[in-house]
Amino acid sequence: MAPSVQRVAAEVQTVEPRRSWSFWVMLVLFAGLAIVWFVVRDDPRGASQEVAYSTLLERVRQGEVTRAELRNDEILADTKQGEILRVKRLPALDERLLVEALDTHRVTFVGRPSSDGLWPGLVMIALPMAISLLFLVWIFRRMRRGPEGLAVGKAEPRVIDQSRQSPVTFADVAGVDEAKAELIEVVDFLKNPARYQALGARIPKGVLLVGPPGTGKTLLARAVAGEAHVPFFSISGSGFVELFVGVGAARMRSLFQQAMARAPCIVFIDELDAVGKRRGPSALAGNDEREQTLDQLLAEMDGFEPNTGVVLMAATNRPDVLDPALLRAGRFDRQVLVDRPDQAGRVAILGVHARRVKLAPEVDLARVARRVPGLVGAELANLVNEAALAAVRRNAAAVGVADFEEAMDRVQLGLAKRGRVMTEGEKRRVACHESGHALVALSVRHADPLHRVSIIPRQIGALGVTLQLPTHDRYLLTESELADRLTVLLAGRAAEALTFADVSTGAEDDLAKATEIARLMVTRYGMSAELGLVALGHQAGSRFLDDFTTVRDYSEMTGREIDEAVRALVDAALARARAVLEPRRETLAALTQALIERENLTREEIDAVVASPQLNPERAAPPAP
Ligand code: ADP
Ligand code: MG
Ligand code: ZN
Repeated sequence: MAPSVQRVAAEVQTVEPRRSWSFWVMLVLFAGLAIVWFVVRDDPRGASQEVAYSTLLERVRQGEVTRAELRNDEILADTKQGEILRVKRLPALDERLLVEALDTHRVTFVGRPSSDGLWPGLVMIALPMAISLLFLVWIFRRMRRGPEGLAVGKAEPRVIDQSRQSPVTFADVAGVDEAKAELIEVVDFLKNPARYQALGARIPKGVLLVGPPGTGKTLLARAVAGEAHVPFFSISGSGFVELFVGVGAARMRSLFQQAMARAPCIVFIDELDAVGKRRGPSALAGNDEREQTLDQLLAEMDGFEPNTGVVLMAATNRPDVLDPALLRAGRFDRQVLVDRPDQAGRVAILGVHARRVKLAPEVDLARVARRVPGLVGAELANLVNEAALAAVRRNAAAVGVADFEEAMDRVQLGLAKRGRVMTEGEKRRVACHESGHALVALSVRHADPLHRVSIIPRQIGALGVTLQLPTHDRYLLTESELADRLTVLLAGRAAEALTFADVSTGAEDDLAKATEIARLMVTRYGMSAELGLVALGHQAGSRFLDDFTTVRDYSEMTGREIDEAVRALVDAALARARAVLEPRRETLAALTQALIERENLTREEIDAVVASPQLNPERAAPPAP
């Protein structure tokens, strides 16, 4: 293992660019420019010294000046002492004084117009021409050397030498256990290929990691190389995309040649979708360069024998746009899903990144993870870092619970905009709206537990926010859970309507979310009695990037029925929220007041308000002895 690593290191050094002749051309050009500069400056005596206009006049009057040269913008004067004085001419000033003085002291003086000599004019014309000519020559020379010569700004595959930098191992990647399990086999193959060859087992030629951005695909690939202790050729798909036809393909060929010479090793193409996009139906529609690169990749994949010891890995978050030919058996025949981590996964990832920071003992990473469903590894890493930064800001000895709260708010809600001033009236309204959400969330059976309410304005839209803390990741929701969710969403509007004479725009986001849920209930989940158990419309797009478009595949009449059913669901939820809040107006008012005063209420504080004796006289009665 060690010798092969050495060889890699040596090879990498020879890739260093040799000083090509273009270097010398540049050198000559610079020298030329420097010479031209001196000619244009045309200061024959070089050692002139700049003085004030008045000084010059004074020296002339004292009879020390022997000769003067009047130029366009300056005057040079020789003195008896052998100095050369230089003064700037004063713009638009009558110089009779100086001329008279010169005349009185019998100083020779000559004038010199600006376009002295042919030189500057000639240079101005000839230089750009010469430069463009040289550039053209350079391009032609490179063209003759074949497409590789044209690789402007070459993206050489990066060979990562596993012995020098501290290698990434599987221990650094958390929360993606299924993907890891799949890759362990690859590592094992790279470590002892003989075992596989003896039994005639064929390791997959290509392993494609698919998953949303930031889930750790690149990290996993590097961990495979780190575990197997083999050279790791890494190049991004966009590194193949070039202006000139044929460059990408040539680069692909050279990548595989280098890899083959160094087997066993891993070739990793990140962001495969940049080269692997589905080829267009006709030559006209397609992108020639990209298609050639893709063809070359396919050819290379077919070219190497399965047991040469080269394992091709690639990562993408757009598997839907990949050319089907890439996914055929014998090419990327193993696909590994690197999905968003679940609760346990998030805890593990937080753990990996928290190793590097000093945590206060009371920090419960499981609780942190629970508040951020849907975050991926990269975001969790960022979260830990934000918390550490928050701890630094408050000069703490360790990263505490409050720091994580701040970091989560930052990541989920954007920065607090403390500078934005709300009027008393606005504040009252927002507080009432959020109290409505909070109170209903406390009352309906299936709502996620209430965590915190705040009316501190945030960057991302909301003026206030009611945070609920899901107890676990939800993969399946029942109809009554969805209905409760709708009710909580509409509770803000319901509270406003109960308290004020008219309603505000504050419920916009709630209504959008509620409508979306209701629409899904009707069209996808079969939860509307009117429309029955049919799936209406289907979704196209990448499931990893949340950029679906819904394709309508039903009649206009059905469309109208859907709209009606959606409206019915939302209306019912609003009525329910109202029914919850109506008998509890006083609690709502008390919560609103507390929120106005404190702007931020934790679960405990909310509970204290809601359960206070004034609001619940029967509960306040002292227990019978
Ligand atoms: P992808 O390639 O899937 O977009 P990366 O591998 O580039 O994601 O992840 C970016 C960074 O996020 C990593 O360097 C690492 O710090 C962190 N990260 C992402 N996923 C994980 C994970 N599963 N475990 C630990 N750290 C992770
Ligand atoms: Mg990546
Ligand atoms: Zn709301």
